[in-house]
Amino acid sequence: MEVVLNWILFLGTGGGRVVTSKQFRQTGGFIVSLERNLFWFDPGPGALVHARRLRFPVEDVNYIVISHNHLDHVNDVNVVTEAITLRAYGNLTVLAPSSTFSENVLYSYLHERLKQKVELDKEVPPFKIGEIQLTWFQLEHTTLTYGFSFIHNGKKLLTYISDTAPFDKLSEYISGTSFLVINVLFPYRVNIGKHLSIPDLEDIVRKAEQKPRRIIITHLGGRYLHENLMSLSEELSMRLQVDLKFAKDNWIFFPDGHLTSYRKYLSSSGQTKPGETLFKRRR
Ligand SMILES: [Zn+2]
Repeated sequence: MEVVLNWILFLGTGGGRVVTSKQFRQTGGFIVSLERNLFWFDPGPGALVHARRLRFPVEDVNYIVISHNHLDHVNDVNVVTEAITLRAYGNLTVLAPSSTFSENVLYSYLHERLKQKVELDKEVPPFKIGEIQLTWFQLEHTTLTYGFSFIHNGKKLLTYISDTAPFDKLSEYISGTSFLVINVLFPYRVNIGKHLSIPDLEDIVRKAEQKPRRIIITHLGGRYLHENLMSLSEELSMRLQVDLKFAKDNWIFFPDGHLTSYRKYLSSSGQTKPGETLFKRRR
């Protein structure tokens, strides 16, 4: 049976202290629709507000995935958990470093509402969701941080590289993935806080045995403010020979390379209830 990646919705594309504090770009993470599951990655500040403004059916989310406990990635995990479990307890699984639970990053009284807690540093990947496997691997950041890949029949459908310094194994982690979502905080090399820059990304992609089919760059810091992202993405796509785009707040990306604003997607789908359009298959 073919497993379908439906789309990725970016609720926030900003990262780092300045952009998060000034909200030059939204923060709030991204939601992946895979088969009939919704995965909310790194719900940073504003996650719930942005989702509600889009009339996104928050209650339908089954999984929250936290890459690490920095506030631009995890700040809204409590309110998002509250919202998802409003209708019923026991439908939501949270995958996160064990400190997210033990240090009350996710308040302890919310734990009992969960179907499952998956402590990434205490369990051995992969985590199975039907025929899909979600696997994880450690990155090199200033706190314990993970990257993730969805795998089906040995094929990487989607890989997410969160905050990290460049290191050799990154090329292996991204190799052969259909879709790569990667946090690249800086347009040029800056030696602050173990983050990737665009030149690092180019190195990682060039060294990969098999290049990703499509790349979406997110978690953009303040140094991009004066960059022309359209021409930068065209330039990089040419140089790397891959389809590379920068994520946009409230935009939805499809595996065929098509992208549109979420509002447009809802109105063009001809459905009155947003929930009805969520699992529309696209290739
Ligand atoms: Zn971080």
